[in-house]
Amino acid sequence: MSSNEQESRFQVNYSLEDTFQALQSAIEKLEGFETVGLDAEQHSIHLKAQSALFSSVEELTITVSNCDNQSAAVTILTVPNPTGALLNNVRPPEKRRNHLREIMGALNNELLNYQPMDPSQKKETLYTFFCPYCGQKYQGGKEYVGQNIECTNCQRRIVLLV
Ligand SMILES: [Zn+2]
Repeated sequence: MSSNEQESRFQVNYSLEDTFQALQSAIEKLEGFETVGLDAEQHSIHLKAQSALFSSVEELTITVSNCDNQSAAVTILTVPNPTGALLNNVRPPEKRRNHLREIMGALNNELLNYQPMDPSQKKETLYTFFCPYCGQKYQGGKEYVGQNIECTNCQRRIVLLV
């Protein structure tokens, strides 16, 4: 274990699965981070943070683990890229904390707006439509209501009405 490694740990009041989902969306929205690996079983994400200013790369491993039913622990391990070792020595120490702060901030934002997955609400309402000419049945989400289509069976133009 290199002395450059740094581990940070914090707790959030969301379930393990919700936190891991939110973490993935948070990282997608962050700039300068590249996901290089994702382990859904271990709930861990491996990231590379680019620092253009110092042309260095820092690797981060973020792992979400269970505290209890209502909370999860997020552990962030940061490892400066060995090839950037020289640069890391002259790099201000705040730089690494910024990566952590960015991730923690993005995750917090995501969790604040997060709608926990509710399987009963996840299923989209399906509408059933019938062609008025031939009776051909169509099914689709609400975006299909009122659509003007050509019936695949009788080729007439029809409007999908519930
Ligand atoms: Zn038809």
